[in-house]
Formats: sequence, C-alpha cells, structure tokens
Amino acid sequence: MEKYIEEILYSEADIKREVKRIGKEITRDYKGKTPILVGLLKGSVPFMAELIKYIKTDVQIDFMKVSSYCGAHSSGSVRIVSDTTTSLKDRDVVIVEDIVDTGLTLSEVIKLIKAKGAASIAICTLCDKPEARLYPAADPKYIGFNIPDKFIVGFGLDYNELYRNLPYIGVLKKEVYSD
Ligand code: 5GP
Repeated sequence: MEKYIEEILYSEADIKREVKRIGKEITRDYKGKTPILVGLLKGSVPFMAELIKYIKTDVQIDFMKVSSYCGAHSSGSVRIVSDTTTSLKDRDVVIVEDIVDTGLTLSEVIKLIKAKGAASIAICTLCDKPEARLYPAADPKYIGFNIPDKFIVGFGLDYNELYRNLPYIGVLKKEVYSD
C-alpha cells in the first residue's frame, strides 16, 4: 500500500497536535453550550474520533453522507445520500469534514442544515485547500492543515475507497490516478 505514497505531509504526531488545538478552540468557543458535531461520511470518521477526545464541554455527534468526488476530479454536483438522525433545529452545528477543496460539497450541506433551522453553523476541517475555493460560503472556521494543490490520502481521506486507514496524511503518487 505505502509504495503508492510519494511523500508524507503530516505524521500521526502532527495530526494529534493540530486536532488537539482545534478541540481546545471548540471548547473555548462553545463554553456553556452543547454543540452537535455533524461529520460528513466517510472521510471525517478518524478526525471526528480524535477530535471529540479533546472537546471538554458537552457535545453530541451525528453523521451525514453526501456524494462527492468521483476519483480525483470533482463530479460537479452533490447529492445527499443519508441524513442526520438528530434534529438540528435550534442547534449549534459544527460540520466536520476531511477536506475542503472548491467548497461545493459544503456549500450544499450548509444550505440543507440552514433549512433545518440550525441556530448556528461552523465548519471544521482537518485539511483545507484555500487556493481551490470557488464557494466562499464554505470557508472553514477551524482548520487543521493548509494543503498545497496536491491529491492527498490517509487519516480518512481516500482514493477510490482505499488508503483511509493510513495513520498519516500523504501525497498520492500521480501514477496511481492518472491514466
Ligand atoms: P469540494 O466539494 O470542496 O470541492 O470537495 C470536497 C471533497 O472532495 C472532499 O470531501 C473529498 O472527498 C474530495 N477531495 C478534495 N481534495 C481531495 C484530496 O486532495 N484528497 C482526497 N482524498 N479527497 C479530496
């Protein structure tokens, strides 16, 4: 598996350190409140699991699934595949995502969560590609790492459903996804 990785960008220790920092920021910002973290499946799962360990206020979690990239390129449209089971009405929602690229996925999810009557919505992402942003509505409040314009995998991030289990974040060799 690891022969497909060109370079390790962030080690397990780097990830732990930044996720801990975000946990502290969320704890500070939601003091006295009970936010609900809504993870976007499947990429957010390792991040969510790590993040909640460092949130020291009451917190709930739920998940949504939306269709996303097909391979390494955007399909250009987003479809809600599975919704949260918790009501988001009047809730302080923190959307938890693996990576924000153009922001298309999140801008659609934000619309849906707004329509459910959320009291507030913030975006928390492990990785951000700010240079690729086309939908500023999706700008994250909480960011683990700024990523260069490269296709990355690991710690939840996949290529064709593989490599989510890597404990680090790495750059996938181009030869893996170019024909
Ligand atoms: P956006 O809608 O912001 O353009 O794309 C967000 C989604 O694209 C992410 O949830 C992720 O599935 C996928 N994506 C974008 N960049 C990368 C990347 O570098 N690596 C991986 N594995 N997925 C990416």
